[in-house]
Amino acid sequence: MPPAGPFVGRPEALARWPWLEQVDWEGLDAAFPVRIPRDYVEGATDPDDPRLLTVLPDAREALAAPDDREDPVGDALMSPVPWGVQKHADRVLLLLTKRCHLYCRYCFRRNHEPGDAQDPSSEEWARLLAWAASSGAREAILSGGDPLAISDDRLYEVIDALRPSIPVIRIHTRAPITYARRITPELVAGLAARGPIWVLVHANHPGELTPAVEDALRRMVDAGLPVLNQAVLLAGVNDDVDVLAQLSERLVSLRVFPYYLHHPDHAAGNAHFRVDPARGLALHRALRSRTSGIGLPAYVVDPPDGSGKIPVEEWMARGAGGTRG
Ligand code: SF4
Repeated sequence: MPPAGPFVGRPEALARWPWLEQVDWEGLDAAFPVRIPRDYVEGATDPDDPRLLTVLPDAREALAAPDDREDPVGDALMSPVPWGVQKHADRVLLLLTKRCHLYCRYCFRRNHEPGDAQDPSSEEWARLLAWAASSGAREAILSGGDPLAISDDRLYEVIDALRPSIPVIRIHTRAPITYARRITPELVAGLAARGPIWVLVHANHPGELTPAVEDALRRMVDAGLPVLNQAVLLAGVNDDVDVLAQLSERLVSLRVFPYYLHHPDHAAGNAHFRVDPARGLALHRALRSRTSGIGLPAYVVDPPDGSGKIPVEEWMARGAGGTRG
C-alpha cells in the first residue's frame, strides 16, 4: 500500500466517515473543491466534530436560499484591477490565488467556476503589484484563497515589491490551522526578516488547536510576528458561548489576540451555517461577561455593498440585519 499523503482521498474518506456515501461528492467538489488535510482531521470520527462539519462536503450545499449572494462582501464593486480590492484609502487587498489547503464549506469566496484561473496570469500579477505599490495605502492585506498556498519565493516577491511604499503588511491565512506543516522554520524566518508583518489566522473552534497548530502559532509569535485570530460564527460549530469562551482562552494563552468574530456572509451553499444576527449579538454579549478585553473579539459584518466591515450592532441599527440574518 502506498504511504498516506498529506490529504485524505475519497476512498479513505468514505471508509472513515461512512455517511458520506449519501453525498454527491463529485457534484459538490465541482462546485467548490473538496480537500481534506490529513493532519487537520486526525482522530475525527464523530459526525458532529467541528472539524468535520466544516471540511466534509454536505448535501445541504446544493440547496439554494433566497438570500444567497454571488458577491456577499461586495469585492467586485471595489476591484480596480483583477485580483485587487480597495475598500478604504489606507488599505489594499491583494488576492494572490484562489487556492487553499482546505476549502471551508462555509467560505464566502466560493466563486470557483469550472475552468476559472486559480492564479493571476503573469500580466495580472505584475499589474496587481504595481497598482498596490502606487496606491498610497499604508497597509496591504495579502489574502486569497490562502496566500500561503503560493510558494515562499512568490510570497517574498510580493512583500519586497510593496516595500517601502507600504509599510505594514498583513497575511490573512488559515494555513497555520488547517495545514500547520506549511509553517516551516524557513518561512517563519523569511517573514520575520521582512517585518513588520502581521499574521491573521483563522480558527473557529478550540478543537482546531491541536499540538501541531499550537506549535506553529508559538513559533510565529516567538519570531516576533504579531498573530491575531479571525473566527467566523457558524451554526452548529461554534454558536455557543462556552465554545467561544474556550477559543478565546486558548488563543490568549498562546499570545494570539482574538481580533474578530465575523457574522457569516451569505454565499451560495452555506445557508446551513448562518446565524441570526440578533442571536449572534446575544452570544457576543454573553462572551463579554466571560472574558477580559484581550480575549474579546469584535463582532463584525462585511456588508454586500462593499463598504467594508462594521460592528454587527451598528449594521442592525441601520436596519440591514433583517436582510441577511
Ligand atoms: S481558507 Fe479562507 S478562502 Fe480558503 S476556503 Fe477557507 S475561508 Fe475560504
